[in-house]
Amino acid sequence: MSSLEIINPATEEVVDTVALATVDETDAAIARAYAALPGWRAVAPGDRARLLRRFADAVDGDLENLARLEVANSGHTIGNARWEAGNVRDVLHYFAGMPERLFGRQIPVPGGVNVTFHEPLGVVGVIVPWNFPMPIAGWGFAPALAGGNTVVLKPAELTPLTALRLAELAKQAGIPEDVFQVLPGRGPVVGERFVTHPLVRKVVFTGSTEVGKQIMAGCADQVKRVTLELGGNNANIVFADADLAKAAAKAPAAVFDNAGQDCCARSRVLVQRPVYDRFMELFEQAVRQVVVGAPGDEATEMGPLISAAHRDRVASYIDGAPVAFRGGAPEGPGFWFPPTVLGPVATDHRAVTDEVFGPVVAVLPFDDEAEAVRLANDTEYGLSGSIWTRDVGRALRVARGVDAGNLSINSNSSVRYWAPFGGFKQSGLGRELGPDAVAAFTDVKNVFIDTDD
Ligand code: NAD
Repeated sequence: MSSLEIINPATEEVVDTVALATVDETDAAIARAYAALPGWRAVAPGDRARLLRRFADAVDGDLENLARLEVANSGHTIGNARWEAGNVRDVLHYFAGMPERLFGRQIPVPGGVNVTFHEPLGVVGVIVPWNFPMPIAGWGFAPALAGGNTVVLKPAELTPLTALRLAELAKQAGIPEDVFQVLPGRGPVVGERFVTHPLVRKVVFTGSTEVGKQIMAGCADQVKRVTLELGGNNANIVFADADLAKAAAKAPAAVFDNAGQDCCARSRVLVQRPVYDRFMELFEQAVRQVVVGAPGDEATEMGPLISAAHRDRVASYIDGAPVAFRGGAPEGPGFWFPPTVLGPVATDHRAVTDEVFGPVVAVLPFDDEAEAVRLANDTEYGLSGSIWTRDVGRALRVARGVDAGNLSINSNSSVRYWAPFGGFKQSGLGRELGPDAVAAFTDVKNVFIDTDD
């Protein structure tokens, strides 16, 4: 077994050292999860719901500790980290409501009746990226457990600390430890084994489109169920009739929240030409007010990037692009990068065509509704986006025209756990969250009962 030092991105100090699992250790964890299945399936739905609620309460009781751990491990602002821990709690409560409501149908047919059941899939492998370690873990394990499956979860190499703490809290809440296991390790070791191991029946993967394609190809071999939440390159579309002050005031958070390390970041702002200059003035005022600094300070709105390598990658995207204006960033240790606005940017520049995954936004003008939709769709991604207009007809026309799974009108919102979340095109496959998420961790069984004499 090897180990990895965990670095605080704001200070570059080592905060912990975490053991990385081998293939043999992964196999052993999967075997334990498989052995735990009959016991977990036998827990009555009401008792499973109670255990999930106790897990949610344990998260709530540990909320400040979890949030501080995320600040130290991921450089997230304390405000965001509290929201992230709270999201795990809320998602656990939400899915705790499902086991008692997960029932099939009875379908009368000639000579009898067909009855359907939602059967758990078995062992589920959940693979999590580094950008939102807590929520993305919860969106996988909570519905999987609610549906009667057991879970082995692999956090990202860089950010395992809150996932390890969540496993401790689950155990404290009374969830058997083999039912929910957290196994830090390398993607091509632990994650890859989830794909190839015959006892893992579903892989839930959130991460890059590149790795997602490999996972999907690997899962095909055993017809393994797979959910993919992949990259995004999302448009923030501002029409001339919008509440421009509100659109400009919200635009920084839409892309600089979590330092832009957000698959839903609105990294392309499309502005209708008559208001382009006015929007840029208001946007600049708002960007200059973004407080970038120590993530543990209550007033901080943007922290550092996750690593030095990622900072270099983000920096490479602004080469050759016109920098319209930038915010500030601290000097010294830490992987800092200032909020950066590019514009007007050519449509074929890498900052427009690729997922930057950092605090960089490209602004492009457009003339009419058709051009706005064409530009928004000029990408292989299709995850999220926003539309700013006072014309309700236009808002819905454009929302229907943009090929993306999660759109908001006059808002930055992307994820609300009551509603399904997922991508069009190469942004993913399947949906997480919402009322149908538990069913996606089951297979439907149909049983015919003969009623003839
Ligand atoms: P990544 O693809 O490099 O890694 C994601 C996870 O996959 C990590 O746990 C990693 O260890 C694991 N992994 C790597 N190679 C693997 C392999 N061969 N087999 C199995 N697992 C493997 O992504 P990242 O850099 O951690 O995260 C950033 C990406 O995640 C961005 O593209 C972002 O858009 C995407 N993302 C998408 C969503 C969404 O909901 N659509 C949410 C957050 C992040």
